[in-house]
Amino acid sequence: MNIILLGPPGAGKGTQARILVEGRGMIQLSTGDMLREARTSGTEMGNKVAAIMDAGELVTDEIVIGLIEEKLEGDHGGGFIFDGFPRTLAQADALGALLKKHDAKLDAVVEMRVDDNALVQRITARSTCGNCGEVYNDITKPIPADGKCESCGGNEFKRRADDNEESLKTRLMEYYKKTSPLIGYYYHAGALKPVNGLGEIEEVAAEISEALGG
Ligand code: AMP
Repeated sequence: MNIILLGPPGAGKGTQARILVEGRGMIQLSTGDMLREARTSGTEMGNKVAAIMDAGELVTDEIVIGLIEEKLEGDHGGGFIFDGFPRTLAQADALGALLKKHDAKLDAVVEMRVDDNALVQRITARSTCGNCGEVYNDITKPIPADGKCESCGGNEFKRRADDNEESLKTRLMEYYKKTSPLIGYYYHAGALKPVNGLGEIEEVAAEISEALGG
C-alpha cells in the first residue's frame, strides 16, 4: 500500500508516519528529513537548500522529485508513506508518473486537518530526539524528567531551525498557496481521506487506520 500524508506543517505527519512504519512495516519517505540530511552533508545542493528551508520556503520541484525518484528505485517492502511530498501540483504529477513507471499505484491520500492556532502551539513547542527522531512537545508530551528519550534512551534533543513563528508564517503561506490545491487534485482522483488531526496521537492513528481500511 502506498499512501500520502498531506497536511500543513505541525499537523502530525511525521508522528503518524512513524506509527505506520512500526505497525505496518511501511517505508517512510520524508523529503523534509532527506533535505535536512542533505544540508548537513556540505554538498552544493545541501548549502543551496539550507537557506530556503530556514526561511520556510519550498525548495525546487526538481530537487525533491530527484530525491524521491532515487528512493523509489529501492525495495518497496510494505509500501511507501510519502510524508511532506508532494507539496505542489508539479510534484503530484511527477509522483503519479514515477509510481506508474514502477507498476505501483497510490492507495490513499490522508489529509490531516488541524487549525492554525494548534499548529503554532505545536511547532513552537516541538523538539525531537537527536538519535531516533521521536517527537516531543513542551506542553503535551514533554521530554521525560530523567532526560532520556522514551523510545531509544538517547539524551540529546534538537529543535528545528525553522520551528519558529517567523518561518512558520511563511511555511503556512506556502502550504495554503502551493500545497492545499492538492486536496482538490486528490479528491477528484477519488483518493482523498480526510481525518481530524486535532485529537490525541492514538486517536488520530486509529482514525487513519480506519481510513486505510483497518
Ligand atoms: P518538513 O520537514 O516536511 O516540514 O519540511 C521542512 C522544509 O523542507 C520545508 O519547509 C521546505 O523548505 C522543505 N521541503 C520538504 N519537503 C518539500 C517538498 N516536497 N517540496 C519542497 N520543499 C520541501
